[in-house]
Amino acid sequence: MTFLTNTPNGYLSLCYHYIRDNSAEQSFHRILGTSVNEFEKHIEMFSNYFKLIAPSDALSFSYGDYNFKDNEIGLLLTFDDGLSDHYVAAKILAKHGIKAIFFIPTCILKDELPANPIIIHYCIAKFGLSNFLNFLKSSLEKNLNDFNKHMKKFSYIRGNYDEVIQKIKYFFKYELNEKLSRLILLEIYENMFHDKFPNAMEIMHLTKNQVYEMIEMGHSIGTHTHSHISVGSSNLEDNELNFEIIQPKNYIENTFKIKSDFMSYPFGKTIDCLSSKELIVKTDSYKLAFTVEEILNKKSTSPYELGRYMPTSFDTSDLLYKKMITMINRK
Ligand SMILES: [Zn+2]
Repeated sequence: MTFLTNTPNGYLSLCYHYIRDNSAEQSFHRILGTSVNEFEKHIEMFSNYFKLIAPSDALSFSYGDYNFKDNEIGLLLTFDDGLSDHYVAAKILAKHGIKAIFFIPTCILKDELPANPIIIHYCIAKFGLSNFLNFLKSSLEKNLNDFNKHMKKFSYIRGNYDEVIQKIKYFFKYELNEKLSRLILLEIYENMFHDKFPNAMEIMHLTKNQVYEMIEMGHSIGTHTHSHISVGSSNLEDNELNFEIIQPKNYIENTFKIKSDFMSYPFGKTIDCLSSKELIVKTDSYKLAFTVEEILNKKSTSPYELGRYMPTSFDTSDLLYKKMITMINRK
């Protein structure tokens, strides 16, 4: 441990998405993520500088008497979206004796359909942005009267690739209502991706059998809503809230015969989350809920507003270490 000053009693949490092995990188090289090689380096850095904790320790930290020693900062690893990559990550972690939480949108297991953002990532990675926009246009044309107004926002010229992708993501997250978003993205998925890749679900997401194995490795499974919606900005009726938040917990618990006390908010920014009070009043069924607010989780942090940092594809272990130290020192 190299924390010289008095360390606060708390832990950081990280939220990983894509962890790409060689075959994933070769087949879908445009999907950005942490390479398996870099991920191994991250783990080495974590073991040198942090006290890796299990999900049960995080529970006990919030509700029981778990405390960190002086000069010790905890670290909890989590993975969002139920990506196929997480099976590889789970095995690497198990090899190092590390237990993590994997947050899964239940649509991938229950309906065998991909989560919204993953459709966007894979379709654009494989077929390019122009093709994606063509499919988007024909689907919008079918489902929306004022589709032209929307298509204008996405005009793609050389040099604005990232900007257009950000606009597409924003459009599906916040501008369309969640039912229409889902309908259109599933249409694009079927026509653009599933048509060419009959095994699309295995390419994109975890299978039930893989989840069983990950549980046997000692990992925990949490929920991430049913269809990966922004809970906070969706104005859900009680029955919809039940469908998106409560039923996923029941489904995971009944299917895998485990307890699932954890959820993470899709997208995870303040606008996407419920306040802890609201979540407790509406559900009373989770013990810990995670956002992507970049904070150190302390005893005083609400167990329903725990923070995490999302490592990017640019985060080498050195850079990640620096960012983690910044989070610890932030007042
Ligand atoms: Zn997510």
